[in-house]
Amino acid sequence: MGTVPDKIWTWRMVQPTTFNKETKESTPGKLEKEQIPVPELQPGEVLVEIAGCGVCHTDLGYFYDGVPTVSKPPLALGHEISGTVVAGDSAWVGKEVIVPAVMPCRKCILCKTGRGNRCLDQKMPGNSLGVYGGFSSHIPVPCIDLCEVKGRGNIPLAHLAVVADAATTPFQAAKRASLQPGDNVIIVGIGGGVGQYMGQIAKALGAATVVGIEVDEEKLKRALQFGADYVINAKGKDAGAVSKEFRGLCKEKGLPATGWKIFEITGAKGGQEVALTLLSFTGKLIVVGFSMAKIEYAIGRLMAFDAEIIGTWGCLPEHYPVVLDMVLEGRINIEEFVQTRPMSSIAEAFAEAHKAPPLKRIVLTPDF
Ligand SMILES: [Zn+2]
Ligand SMILES: [Zn+2]
Repeated sequence: MGTVPDKIWTWRMVQPTTFNKETKESTPGKLEKEQIPVPELQPGEVLVEIAGCGVCHTDLGYFYDGVPTVSKPPLALGHEISGTVVAGDSAWVGKEVIVPAVMPCRKCILCKTGRGNRCLDQKMPGNSLGVYGGFSSHIPVPCIDLCEVKGRGNIPLAHLAVVADAATTPFQAAKRASLQPGDNVIIVGIGGGVGQYMGQIAKALGAATVVGIEVDEEKLKRALQFGADYVINAKGKDAGAVSKEFRGLCKEKGLPATGWKIFEITGAKGGQEVALTLLSFTGKLIVVGFSMAKIEYAIGRLMAFDAEIIGTWGCLPEHYPVVLDMVLEGRINIEEFVQTRPMSSIAEAFAEAHKAPPLKRIVLTPDF
Protein backbone atom coordinates (compact mmCIF):
# COMPACT_ATOMS: atom_id res chain seq x y z
CA MET A 1 0.00 0.00 0.00
CA GLY A 2 1.23 3.46 -0.82
CA THR A 3 1.98 6.29 1.55
CA VAL A 4 0.75 9.88 1.57
CA PRO A 5 3.38 12.01 -0.17
CA ASP A 6 4.55 15.54 0.71
CA LYS A 7 4.39 16.63 -2.91
CA ILE A 8 2.94 15.37 -6.18
CA TRP A 9 5.32 14.75 -9.07
CA THR A 10 3.74 15.63 -12.34
CA TRP A 11 4.53 16.01 -16.04
CA ARG A 12 2.76 19.20 -17.05
CA MET A 13 1.95 20.41 -20.51
CA VAL A 14 3.42 23.90 -20.14
CA GLN A 15 2.33 24.75 -23.64
CA PRO A 16 0.79 22.80 -26.50
CA THR A 17 2.22 22.80 -30.01
CA THR A 18 1.28 26.07 -31.68
CA PHE A 19 1.04 26.90 -35.34
CA ASN A 20 1.40 30.40 -36.70
CA LYS A 21 -0.90 30.72 -39.71
CA GLU A 22 0.99 33.72 -41.14
CA THR A 23 4.54 32.50 -40.85
CA LYS A 24 3.51 28.83 -41.22
CA GLU A 25 5.89 28.07 -38.39
CA SER A 26 5.03 25.64 -35.65
CA THR A 27 6.45 25.89 -32.15
CA PRO A 28 6.84 22.50 -30.46
CA GLY A 29 4.80 21.87 -27.34
CA LYS A 30 6.54 21.60 -24.00
CA LEU A 31 6.22 19.01 -21.22
CA GLU A 32 7.96 19.75 -17.94
CA LYS A 33 8.49 17.69 -14.82
CA GLU A 34 7.40 19.59 -11.72
CA GLN A 35 6.49 19.12 -8.10
CA ILE A 36 3.22 20.56 -6.88
CA PRO A 37 1.67 20.65 -3.40
CA VAL A 38 -0.76 17.93 -2.31
CA PRO A 39 -4.10 19.77 -2.11
CA GLU A 40 -6.28 19.64 0.97
CA LEU A 41 -8.80 16.91 0.20
CA GLN A 42 -12.43 17.99 0.23
CA PRO A 43 -15.17 15.75 1.68
CA GLY A 44 -15.85 13.01 -0.85
CA GLU A 45 -12.37 13.27 -2.35
CA VAL A 46 -9.47 10.83 -2.22
CA LEU A 47 -5.84 10.87 -3.28
CA VAL A 48 -4.93 8.11 -5.71
CA GLU A 49 -1.34 6.92 -6.10
CA ILE A 50 -1.15 6.31 -9.83
CA ALA A 51 -0.11 2.84 -11.03
CA GLY A 52 -0.45 3.62 -14.72
CA CYS A 53 -1.91 6.14 -17.13
CA GLY A 54 -2.60 5.33 -20.79
CA VAL A 55 -1.55 7.60 -23.64
CA CYS A 56 -4.76 8.31 -25.54
CA HIS A 57 -5.34 9.88 -28.94
CA THR A 58 -7.13 12.66 -27.06
CA ASP A 59 -3.94 13.60 -25.17
CA LEU A 60 -2.11 13.82 -28.48
CA GLY A 61 -4.91 16.05 -29.82
CA TYR A 62 -4.35 18.45 -26.92
CA PHE A 63 -0.58 18.41 -27.27
CA TYR A 64 -0.14 18.41 -31.05
CA ASP A 65 -3.32 19.35 -32.85
CA GLY A 66 -4.65 22.49 -31.19
CA VAL A 67 -7.57 20.81 -29.41
CA PRO A 68 -8.05 23.08 -26.37
CA THR A 69 -8.20 21.71 -22.82
CA VAL A 70 -10.94 23.07 -20.54
CA SER A 71 -8.38 23.94 -17.83
CA LYS A 72 -5.76 26.12 -19.47
CA PRO A 73 -2.07 25.05 -19.45
CA PRO A 74 0.03 24.43 -17.53
CA LEU A 75 -1.74 21.24 -16.56
CA ALA A 76 -0.96 17.53 -16.48
CA LEU A 77 -2.65 15.55 -19.28
CA GLY A 78 -3.78 11.94 -18.94
CA HIS A 79 -7.24 10.51 -18.21
CA GLU A 80 -6.78 6.73 -18.39
CA ILE A 81 -5.80 6.01 -14.80
CA SER A 82 -5.51 3.09 -12.41
CA GLY A 83 -4.01 3.27 -8.94
CA THR A 84 -4.36 2.86 -5.20
CA VAL A 85 -6.21 5.19 -2.82
CA VAL A 86 -3.72 6.49 -0.23
CA ALA A 87 -5.65 9.29 1.52
CA GLY A 88 -9.13 10.72 2.01
CA ASP A 89 -12.39 8.86 2.66
CA SER A 90 -11.40 6.01 5.00
CA ALA A 91 -13.80 3.61 3.28
CA TRP A 92 -11.57 3.85 0.19
CA VAL A 93 -8.04 4.05 1.60
CA GLY A 94 -5.99 1.02 0.54
CA LYS A 95 -8.29 0.03 -2.31
CA GLU A 96 -7.12 -0.42 -5.88
CA VAL A 97 -9.23 1.59 -8.28
CA ILE A 98 -9.86 2.66 -11.82
CA VAL A 99 -10.61 6.37 -12.20
CA PRO A 100 -13.33 6.94 -14.82
CA ALA A 101 -12.16 9.23 -17.62
CA VAL A 102 -15.38 11.21 -17.31
CA MET A 103 -16.95 11.92 -13.91
CA PRO A 104 -20.47 13.40 -14.09
CA CYS A 105 -21.71 16.14 -11.73
CA ARG A 106 -24.67 13.99 -10.58
CA LYS A 107 -26.83 17.11 -10.22
CA CYS A 108 -27.82 18.34 -13.67
CA ILE A 109 -30.73 17.29 -15.88
CA LEU A 110 -28.49 15.13 -18.07
CA CYS A 111 -27.17 13.27 -15.03
CA LYS A 112 -30.69 12.82 -13.69
CA THR A 113 -31.99 11.45 -16.97
CA GLY A 114 -29.30 8.80 -17.45
CA ARG A 115 -27.13 10.84 -19.83
CA GLY A 116 -24.42 11.67 -17.28
CA ASN A 117 -21.67 10.50 -19.62
CA ARG A 118 -22.27 13.76 -21.50
CA CYS A 119 -22.83 15.92 -18.39
CA LEU A 120 -21.67 19.45 -19.21
CA ASP A 121 -20.25 19.89 -15.72
CA GLN A 122 -18.32 16.64 -15.84
CA LYS A 123 -14.75 16.44 -14.63
CA MET A 124 -12.10 14.78 -16.75
CA PRO A 125 -8.56 14.32 -15.41
CA GLY A 126 -6.01 15.92 -17.71
CA ASN A 127 -8.63 18.25 -19.18
CA SER A 128 -11.13 19.75 -16.75
CA LEU A 129 -9.85 18.71 -13.31
CA GLY A 130 -7.79 21.86 -12.74
CA VAL A 131 -4.06 21.18 -13.05
CA TYR A 132 -4.46 17.49 -12.24
CA GLY A 133 -4.00 14.69 -14.73
CA GLY A 134 -2.84 11.10 -14.93
CA PHE A 135 0.75 11.72 -16.00
CA SER A 136 1.61 12.28 -12.35
CA SER A 137 2.56 10.35 -9.23
CA HIS A 138 -0.79 11.08 -7.54
CA ILE A 139 -4.14 12.65 -8.32
CA PRO A 140 -7.00 13.96 -6.14
CA VAL A 141 -10.39 12.74 -7.43
CA PRO A 142 -13.98 12.43 -6.19
CA CYS A 143 -14.51 8.92 -4.81
CA ILE A 144 -18.19 8.50 -5.75
CA ASP A 145 -17.40 7.27 -9.28
CA LEU A 146 -14.31 5.18 -8.59
CA CYS A 147 -14.40 1.58 -9.76
CA GLU A 148 -12.86 -0.80 -7.24
CA VAL A 149 -10.53 -3.47 -8.58
CA LYS A 150 -10.88 -6.86 -6.89
CA GLY A 151 -9.47 -10.24 -7.85
CA ARG A 152 -7.24 -9.06 -10.68
CA GLY A 153 -5.07 -12.21 -10.47
CA ASN A 154 -1.90 -11.80 -12.51
CA ILE A 155 -3.03 -8.73 -14.41
CA PRO A 156 -0.86 -5.78 -13.35
CA LEU A 157 -2.86 -2.87 -11.93
CA ALA A 158 -1.12 -0.52 -14.39
CA HIS A 159 -2.52 -2.50 -17.35
CA LEU A 160 -6.05 -2.03 -16.03
CA ALA A 161 -5.67 1.71 -16.71
CA VAL A 162 -7.05 0.99 -20.19
CA VAL A 163 -10.40 0.15 -18.61
CA ALA A 164 -10.67 3.84 -17.70
CA ASP A 165 -11.17 4.85 -21.32
CA ALA A 166 -10.15 2.59 -24.21
CA ALA A 167 -12.19 -0.40 -23.02
CA THR A 168 -15.19 1.46 -21.58
CA THR A 169 -15.91 3.94 -24.39
CA PRO A 170 -16.82 1.05 -26.75
CA PHE A 171 -19.13 -0.43 -24.10
CA GLN A 172 -21.06 2.84 -23.91
CA ALA A 173 -21.09 2.93 -27.73
CA ALA A 174 -22.61 -0.57 -27.74
CA LYS A 175 -25.28 0.63 -25.29
CA ARG A 176 -26.03 3.66 -27.50
CA ALA A 177 -26.40 1.29 -30.43
CA SER A 178 -28.75 -0.95 -28.39
CA LEU A 179 -26.49 -3.80 -29.41
CA GLN A 180 -28.34 -7.10 -29.04
CA PRO A 181 -27.25 -10.73 -29.32
CA GLY A 182 -27.50 -11.72 -32.96
CA ASP A 183 -26.75 -8.24 -34.31
CA ASN A 184 -24.45 -7.77 -37.27
CA VAL A 185 -21.72 -5.23 -36.72
CA ILE A 186 -19.14 -3.34 -38.77
CA ILE A 187 -16.22 -1.64 -37.04
CA VAL A 188 -14.37 0.96 -39.05
CA GLY A 189 -10.92 1.25 -37.45
CA ILE A 190 -10.90 -2.10 -35.63
CA GLY A 191 -7.12 -2.05 -35.19
CA GLY A 192 -6.80 1.03 -32.98
CA GLY A 193 -6.64 1.46 -29.21
CA VAL A 194 -10.43 1.81 -28.94
CA GLY A 195 -11.43 -0.09 -32.09
CA GLN A 196 -10.06 -3.45 -31.07
CA TYR A 197 -11.99 -3.31 -27.77
CA MET A 198 -15.08 -2.40 -29.79
CA GLY A 199 -14.62 -5.68 -31.67
CA GLN A 200 -14.07 -7.73 -28.53
CA ILE A 201 -17.00 -6.13 -26.71
CA ALA A 202 -19.41 -6.48 -29.64
CA LYS A 203 -18.56 -10.17 -29.82
CA ALA A 204 -18.75 -10.62 -26.03
CA LEU A 205 -22.20 -9.01 -26.05
CA GLY A 206 -23.38 -11.56 -28.56
CA ALA A 207 -22.93 -10.00 -32.00
CA ALA A 208 -23.53 -12.67 -34.65
CA THR A 209 -21.08 -11.18 -37.11
CA VAL A 210 -18.30 -8.63 -36.65
CA VAL A 211 -16.69 -7.22 -39.79
CA GLY A 212 -13.54 -5.20 -39.08
CA ILE A 213 -12.18 -2.55 -41.41
CA GLU A 214 -8.64 -1.21 -41.03
CA VAL A 215 -5.61 -0.21 -43.08
CA ASP A 216 -2.92 -2.11 -41.16
CA GLU A 217 -2.52 -5.75 -42.16
CA GLU A 218 -0.94 -6.82 -38.86
CA LYS A 219 -3.77 -5.26 -36.86
CA LEU A 220 -6.33 -6.94 -39.12
CA LYS A 221 -4.77 -10.34 -38.46
CA ARG A 222 -4.91 -9.66 -34.73
CA ALA A 223 -8.55 -8.51 -34.98
CA LEU A 224 -9.47 -11.94 -36.40
CA GLN A 225 -8.22 -13.51 -33.17
CA PHE A 226 -10.06 -11.00 -30.98
CA GLY A 227 -13.65 -10.47 -32.05
CA ALA A 228 -13.71 -10.05 -35.81
CA ASP A 229 -15.21 -12.76 -38.02
CA TYR A 230 -14.15 -11.11 -41.25
CA VAL A 231 -11.85 -8.22 -42.10
CA ILE A 232 -11.44 -5.83 -44.99
CA ASN A 233 -8.14 -4.05 -45.61
CA ALA A 234 -9.11 -0.54 -46.71
CA LYS A 235 -5.58 0.60 -47.52
CA GLY A 236 -5.51 2.65 -50.71
CA LYS A 237 -9.24 2.10 -51.30
CA ASP A 238 -11.92 4.77 -51.41
CA ALA A 239 -15.29 4.39 -49.69
CA GLY A 240 -16.92 3.04 -52.85
CA ALA A 241 -14.32 0.30 -53.24
CA VAL A 242 -14.62 -0.74 -49.57
CA SER A 243 -18.41 -0.80 -49.86
CA LYS A 244 -18.20 -2.99 -52.96
CA GLU A 245 -15.89 -5.40 -51.16
CA PHE A 246 -18.30 -5.49 -48.23
CA ARG A 247 -21.29 -6.28 -50.46
CA GLY A 248 -19.25 -9.04 -52.08
CA LEU A 249 -18.43 -10.46 -48.66
CA CYS A 250 -22.12 -10.44 -47.66
CA LYS A 251 -23.04 -12.30 -50.82
CA GLU A 252 -20.25 -14.83 -50.47
CA LYS A 253 -20.90 -15.56 -46.79
CA GLY A 254 -24.69 -15.33 -46.92
CA LEU A 255 -24.82 -12.31 -44.63
CA PRO A 256 -27.86 -10.01 -44.64
CA ALA A 257 -27.79 -6.78 -46.61
CA THR A 258 -29.78 -4.79 -44.05
CA GLY A 259 -29.73 -3.79 -40.38
CA TRP A 260 -25.97 -3.45 -39.89
CA LYS A 261 -24.74 -1.50 -36.88
CA ILE A 262 -21.66 0.43 -37.92
CA PHE A 263 -19.19 1.83 -35.39
CA GLU A 264 -16.89 4.55 -36.75
CA ILE A 265 -13.83 4.65 -34.50
CA THR A 266 -11.13 6.27 -36.63
CA GLY A 267 -12.32 9.85 -36.35
CA ALA A 268 -10.63 10.32 -39.73
CA LYS A 269 -12.43 11.69 -42.76
CA GLY A 270 -11.69 8.58 -44.82
CA GLY A 271 -13.11 6.28 -42.15
CA GLN A 272 -16.20 8.44 -41.77
CA GLU A 273 -16.79 8.32 -45.52
CA VAL A 274 -16.53 4.54 -45.46
CA ALA A 275 -19.01 4.34 -42.57
CA LEU A 276 -21.52 6.65 -44.27
CA THR A 277 -21.26 4.72 -47.53
CA LEU A 278 -21.87 1.42 -45.73
CA LEU A 279 -24.92 2.77 -43.89
CA SER A 280 -27.93 1.20 -45.53
CA PHE A 281 -31.50 -0.02 -44.92
CA THR A 282 -32.50 -0.03 -41.20
CA GLY A 283 -28.83 0.44 -40.29
CA LYS A 284 -27.31 2.46 -37.47
CA LEU A 285 -24.11 4.45 -37.59
CA ILE A 286 -22.54 5.17 -34.21
CA VAL A 287 -19.89 7.89 -34.28
CA VAL A 288 -17.22 7.00 -31.69
CA GLY A 289 -14.16 8.76 -33.14
CA PHE A 290 -13.83 12.54 -33.19
CA SER A 291 -12.64 14.84 -35.94
CA MET A 292 -13.38 18.32 -37.23
CA ALA A 293 -13.63 17.05 -40.81
CA LYS A 294 -16.66 18.09 -42.83
CA ILE A 295 -18.35 15.58 -45.08
CA GLU A 296 -21.04 16.02 -47.69
CA TYR A 297 -23.87 13.54 -47.24
CA ALA A 298 -27.42 13.40 -48.57
CA ILE A 299 -29.28 13.07 -45.27
CA GLY A 300 -32.39 12.16 -47.22
CA ARG A 301 -30.80 8.74 -47.41
CA LEU A 302 -31.60 8.30 -43.71
CA MET A 303 -35.27 8.71 -44.56
CA ALA A 304 -35.09 6.34 -47.48
CA PHE A 305 -33.11 3.79 -45.46
CA ASP A 306 -35.10 4.25 -42.23
CA ALA A 307 -31.61 4.54 -40.74
CA GLU A 308 -29.97 6.40 -37.87
CA ILE A 309 -26.75 8.23 -37.10
CA ILE A 310 -25.87 8.52 -33.41
CA GLY A 311 -23.00 10.09 -31.50
CA THR A 312 -21.54 8.65 -28.29
CA TRP A 313 -19.27 10.17 -25.67
CA GLY A 314 -17.27 8.51 -22.90
CA CYS A 315 -18.89 6.00 -20.58
CA LEU A 316 -21.11 6.22 -17.53
CA PRO A 317 -19.17 5.29 -14.37
CA GLU A 318 -21.90 2.75 -13.50
CA HIS A 319 -20.84 0.63 -16.49
CA TYR A 320 -17.21 0.39 -15.33
CA PRO A 321 -17.67 -2.58 -12.98
CA VAL A 322 -19.36 -4.52 -15.81
CA VAL A 323 -16.48 -3.87 -18.20
CA LEU A 324 -13.90 -4.63 -15.50
CA ASP A 325 -15.62 -7.97 -14.84
CA MET A 326 -15.52 -8.77 -18.55
CA VAL A 327 -11.77 -8.08 -18.50
CA LEU A 328 -11.11 -10.09 -15.32
CA GLU A 329 -13.20 -13.01 -16.63
CA GLY A 330 -11.16 -13.00 -19.83
CA ARG A 331 -14.07 -12.06 -22.08
CA ILE A 332 -12.10 -8.95 -23.05
CA ASN A 333 -8.36 -9.44 -23.52
CA ILE A 334 -6.20 -6.47 -22.54
CA GLU A 335 -2.82 -8.16 -22.11
CA GLU A 336 -2.26 -8.45 -25.87
CA PHE A 337 -2.98 -4.78 -26.31
CA VAL A 338 -0.96 -3.02 -23.60
CA GLN A 339 2.69 -2.09 -23.13
CA THR A 340 4.11 -0.15 -20.20
CA ARG A 341 6.85 2.45 -20.28
CA PRO A 342 8.41 4.59 -17.55
CA MET A 343 6.64 7.93 -17.20
CA SER A 344 9.99 9.72 -17.47
CA SER A 345 9.90 8.80 -21.19
CA ILE A 346 6.60 10.64 -21.72
CA ALA A 347 7.97 12.97 -24.42
CA GLU A 348 9.29 10.05 -26.49
CA ALA A 349 6.06 8.08 -25.94
CA PHE A 350 3.97 11.04 -27.14
CA ALA A 351 6.18 11.55 -30.19
CA GLU A 352 6.07 7.87 -31.08
CA ALA A 353 2.29 7.53 -30.66
CA HIS A 354 1.78 10.74 -32.61
CA LYS A 355 3.91 9.51 -35.50
CA ALA A 356 1.98 6.25 -35.87
CA PRO A 357 -0.65 4.64 -33.63
CA PRO A 358 1.25 1.95 -31.69
CA LEU A 359 0.32 -1.73 -32.06
CA LYS A 360 -0.17 -1.86 -28.29
CA ARG A 361 -1.43 1.03 -26.20
CA ILE A 362 1.30 2.74 -24.18
CA VAL A 363 0.62 2.94 -20.44
CA LEU A 364 3.09 5.13 -18.55
CA THR A 365 4.04 4.04 -15.04
CA PRO A 366 5.36 6.67 -12.61
CA ASP A 367 9.14 6.65 -12.10
CA PHE A 368 9.75 10.40 -12.61
ZN1 LIG B 1 -9.05 8.96 -24.09
ZN1 LIG C 1 -24.32 16.53 -14.62
